[in-house]
Amino acid sequence: FPTRRSSDLFVNTLAMPGELIPMTKEQTHHIRRVMRMQQGDVIRVADNSGRVLLAEVEYHQEEAAARVVREVRDRSRTSVELILAQGMIKGEKWDYLLQKSAELGVAEIIPFVSSRCVVKIKDEKSEKKIVRWNKILCEACEQCKRSTLVRLQPPCTFSQLSQIDADLRLIAYEDADCKSERLCEVLRAHPSPKRVLMVVGSEGGFSADEVEALTASGFHRVSLGGRILRAETAAISLLNSIEFYYDMAGEKDEDDI
Ligand code: SAM
Repeated sequence: FPTRRSSDLFVNTLAMPGELIPMTKEQTHHIRRVMRMQQGDVIRVADNSGRVLLAEVEYHQEEAAARVVREVRDRSRTSVELILAQGMIKGEKWDYLLQKSAELGVAEIIPFVSSRCVVKIKDEKSEKKIVRWNKILCEACEQCKRSTLVRLQPPCTFSQLSQIDADLRLIAYEDADCKSERLCEVLRAHPSPKRVLMVVGSEGGFSADEVEALTASGFHRVSLGGRILRAETAAISLLNSIEFYYDMAGEKDEDDI
C-alpha cells in the first residue's frame, strides 16, 4: 500500500509561534531520511484541533523538532460533518476506502458487520488491524493536508447503527424496487445539517429486513442511480456528492476570493 510522501505532519502538542514541537522517532526518520529536509526547511504541522501551523525543521543531535513560525488558514474542513458507517469489505479494497474517504473529508468511520458481510472480525486480530487502519488514515490526512484526523470507531453490529445520532441519516440502497429516494431531493429537504450519517453496505449488500429496520428508525433510503456500484465506489460517490452539495449551497468565507 502506498506510503506517505508529504512534509505535513500531525502532532499532539498545542504550540504557539516560537515554541518547539518535538517529533516522534518515525517523524524524525520521515523528515530526515525520506524527505531529506535540512535545518530551517519549512513543514506544515496540524495539531488535530483544527489549527495548521508552519514550522521550521531543527535537528537536535539525532532528533528532529519543528519551531513554530505562524498559524495559517485551514482550507481542509468540510461544510458538514460526514460520518461513514461502512459494511466491512475485503483486504485492499478496505484500505483503499479508508484512504479515499480521508481525502474526501470524512470525519468519522464506523465499520460494521451485517448479515451479508463475508469479512468477520476476530477479536485477537482486530487490535492490530485498527492500528494499521489508523496509520493509513493518518498518512492520507497528512498527504491531503487535513487539519484533523479521521476518528475510527471500533467495529459494531448492524443493530447498533440505528442508535448513532445525526441530523440526517441515510442508507445507500440500490433501487431494485424503486422505493429509494433521490439523493438530491433528500439533501434539498435538509438545507443545513451539522452531522450527516451515511450507511453503505459491504460486497453482499443489505437484506430487505436490514433496510426496513433502518428506514423504520428514521433513515432515508437513497439511490445513487441505476447502476450497482461496488461498495467502495458507493461510499466515495456518496461522500463526494454530499460535500459538493452542501459546499455549493453554503455561505462563502469572507476571505474567499
Ligand atoms: N450484491 C449486492 C446486492 O445486490 O444487494 C450489491 C451490494 S453493492 C456492491 C455494495 C453497497 O453499495 C450496497 O449495499 C449499497 O449500500 C451501495 N450501493 C451500490 N450501488 C448503489 C446504488 N446504485 N445506489 C445506492 N447504493 C448503492
